[in-house]
Parts: sequence; C-alpha cells; structure tokens
Amino acid sequence: MLTGRIKCGTFWSKVPGHTRRAHCSFCKKVQNIEVIETEQHMWLECVNSGQAHAWETAVKTWNKTSNKNWPPITLGTIRGSAVLTFEEDFNKDSERLRILISMTIWAIWKSKIKNSINDQVVTLHETAQGLKELISDLIRKSWNATRFMEEGMKASRRNDLKKLWADGSLTDLGCPTGPEVDFT
Ligand SMILES: [Zn+2]
Repeated sequence: MLTGRIKCGTFWSKVPGHTRRAHCSFCKKVQNIEVIETEQHMWLECVNSGQAHAWETAVKTWNKTSNKNWPPITLGTIRGSAVLTFEEDFNKDSERLRILISMTIWAIWKSKIKNSINDQVVTLHETAQGLKELISDLIRKSWNATRFMEEGMKASRRNDLKKLWADGSLTDLGCPTGPEVDFT
C-alpha cells in the first residue's frame, strides 16, 4: 500500500480486458452498481463487503485490552499504522494496535480477493470472522512457540505475550488445552 502497488480501482481501468475490475465486486454483485474501487472504498466505505463489521470487531477486541481510545481509522492511520505509538505505553498497547490494524486490513483484503478474483460468495460477517481467526491463530502460534525456549527466555517471552494479549481479559493463555481467545 505504501508503494502504491495495491491493484484496485483506476489501475484496472487502463488494463485492456480487465476494466471491469476497476469496480467493487461486492457492490456489483449485491446492488448491481458500479463503484470505482478506491482504497478508501475498499478499506473503509464499502457497505457490502463486511469491512465495517471487521473494524467493529477490531475496536471491540481493542476495548477488552486497553483503556486507551481506539484512534479514528483513516487511510492515513492505515498507511502509518506500522509506526503508530502511544506515549507512556507499559502494556504493549502500541504493538497491539499495529497488529490489530494490519490484521483487519489483511482480513478485508482476503475477502476482497475471494469475492473478486475467485468469484466466491463472501457473507457480510465473514470478514469479521476471518479477522477473529487471524488473531486467534497468531496468539496460539506465538504462545506455542515459547514451549521450545529455554526457561529464562520462555518466562520473559510469555510475560510479554500476557501483556500484549491482555491475559485474563481477552485471552486465557494458561488454559491447559492451549490459549483461548474470548471475543465476546
Ligand atoms: Zn463496494
């Protein structure tokens, strides 16, 4: 995205044989309208892709982990998400915020590809569900990776993960069957 290589919208208007790809496939299929698929439309405005539900899930997840306010999400916040930092950050809020934003973008992009390139049905709640799976997967994998660490390193890494994923609120990392994530 930072280097302008996301192939959406007007990029396709110039590609012979693929000009219909300039339009949002969700809006075309659901409402039969042709909307130029700008990044603004894809990440933040489309009402047919479920992107809004995914962002709601991200905010809800955030609110279970921090007292800080979720920032207003614009294209600017998305582009700058890799360097977003809070001052006075003792609970890995900055890192969690960066992960949540990039995961949400990734979930929206996956749904977009599924709907447009693969021409498959994507239900309105699927993108949010996809986001939950991405987050759960990341948490489980990072936690499981600590099993093979030597004791000192393991304890310190686990401590970090407990802060990062709000153990006891969003997650139950010590669960005997493996980390649980509670999105309710
Ligand atoms: Zn759309």
